[in-house]
Amino acid sequence: MSQYKFFQQVNSNFDRAASCLSIDEGLLEQIKECNSTYHISFPVRKDDGSVEVVHGWRSAHSSHKSPTKGGIRFAMAVNEDEVNALAALMTYKCAVVSIPFGGAKGGVKIDRSRYSSAEIERITRRYTFELIKKNFIGPGVDVPAPDYGTGEQEMAWILDTYRSMVNSLDSDGCVTGKPIHQSGISGRTEATGRGVYFGLREACSIEKEMDRHGLDTGLEGKRIIIQGLGNVGYYASIFLREAGALITGVAEMHGGVYDEKGIDVVQLKEHIRETGSIKGYPHGRFIEDSAKVLEMECDILIPAALENQITAENAHNIQAKIIGEAANGPVSCEADKILKEKGTLIIPDIYLNAGGVTVSYFEWIKNLSHIRFGRMDRRYEENAMGRLMTAIEELTGTRFQESDVRRLGKGPEEWDIVDSGLEDTMVVAFHMMYDSGHKHKTDLRTAAYITAIEKIALSYQQLGIFP
Ligand code: NAD
Repeated sequence: MSQYKFFQQVNSNFDRAASCLSIDEGLLEQIKECNSTYHISFPVRKDDGSVEVVHGWRSAHSSHKSPTKGGIRFAMAVNEDEVNALAALMTYKCAVVSIPFGGAKGGVKIDRSRYSSAEIERITRRYTFELIKKNFIGPGVDVPAPDYGTGEQEMAWILDTYRSMVNSLDSDGCVTGKPIHQSGISGRTEATGRGVYFGLREACSIEKEMDRHGLDTGLEGKRIIIQGLGNVGYYASIFLREAGALITGVAEMHGGVYDEKGIDVVQLKEHIRETGSIKGYPHGRFIEDSAKVLEMECDILIPAALENQITAENAHNIQAKIIGEAANGPVSCEADKILKEKGTLIIPDIYLNAGGVTVSYFEWIKNLSHIRFGRMDRRYEENAMGRLMTAIEELTGTRFQESDVRRLGKGPEEWDIVDSGLEDTMVVAFHMMYDSGHKHKTDLRTAAYITAIEKIALSYQQLGIFP
């Protein structure tokens, strides 16, 4: 197998889409290039007193919009090529869902299971310190978020480090995905998985597409296999189950579980949390080789772990009719070609996992405006609805039940507003991508890249830099 070059794969998707458009070559080159990449290495003192040198990167792919935005990943596979590729995907993703950010990504090359919480804290703080020194982080510069191997705790440490070094009214907007009591926002933790659910719900509502795959419309009864029960995979499976889908397979690090009656993912996640592994889960069938779970029969396969999981080597064996790319870059270009020939419907990463950056955008706006969504109007709306219900009662001479008064008269909490913004974003972007695919007679990935390139090109042209 040739050496995997992630950024090259992203660019090859870009080139295929660009060939459908008439855009100046120089402009295309500018969009594709990574604007800047910063490689950091720094010493970390371990709990036993020894010192280790850790490598990290932060890449700003495109600053056609400010700030740039993208997650921070802690994993052994992190390298410059990966960070550049992920930053590029962020640029295209933000454009697909019309979020006014350029793309960025960061990564630290560590196996986090080998470090204590105190060591992870020291690594996170030092990495942030290095970014601050070079002006690679800030609410108007570049705003990190969680990604593979990081979560709200790391984001809180980043915020605290930034605040302690930069005295600014808007410091809270230097990072998103923070805990709710540290200027975070309701709904960010589950946002990417929830976005995956909205995207798949839209795809499965298209009768023509479902007919083509011999499936009924809707998510009800769909058999789903998920790879990776981390933040994205877990929440996606929760919302898909709520909509009536069956999670028939889960592939994790040390094996997989298959159960055609459906897996209780809450219970399974609890088991993984308690024991540190999927092994020993008492329900369903345990499968030693977790990669084999991806090849089992199902309607929808959701890779939600890492890139390059479906390749030329296993693409022929994939039985899923739909692949929902919750992870970034899970399907290689070679595999994409094979799957397309087989007729598999692929919902691409730069659309499907955009829920995270969408809610991060809402969090950033909340931080800059210094007020929680709904604070000014929730009670006003409740009172207005109360007056309306009273007027209806007076006109009709009937009385609303107490439960109806509570249900109808409830003003929106922050979560309701965030969720409605997320749903709207995912629905509008899906149909934009789908219509573009129809217009250009392409698959959805190419269609998503086309919509992204068109929007970014327009942005550069309006700046007067390119023809
Ligand atoms: P995470 O660290 O929370 O979870 C990843 C899970 O995948 C873990 O449970 C891990 O054990 C599992 N895993 C790793 N390698 C595996 C393998 N070979 N087979 C099976 N399972 C494996 O990470 P996450 O935040 O859920 O991110 C997952 C993917 O989604 C990444 O590609 C990330 O870039 C992408 N993504 C994340 C977000 C976000 O908001 N967190 C947003 C957009 C995209």
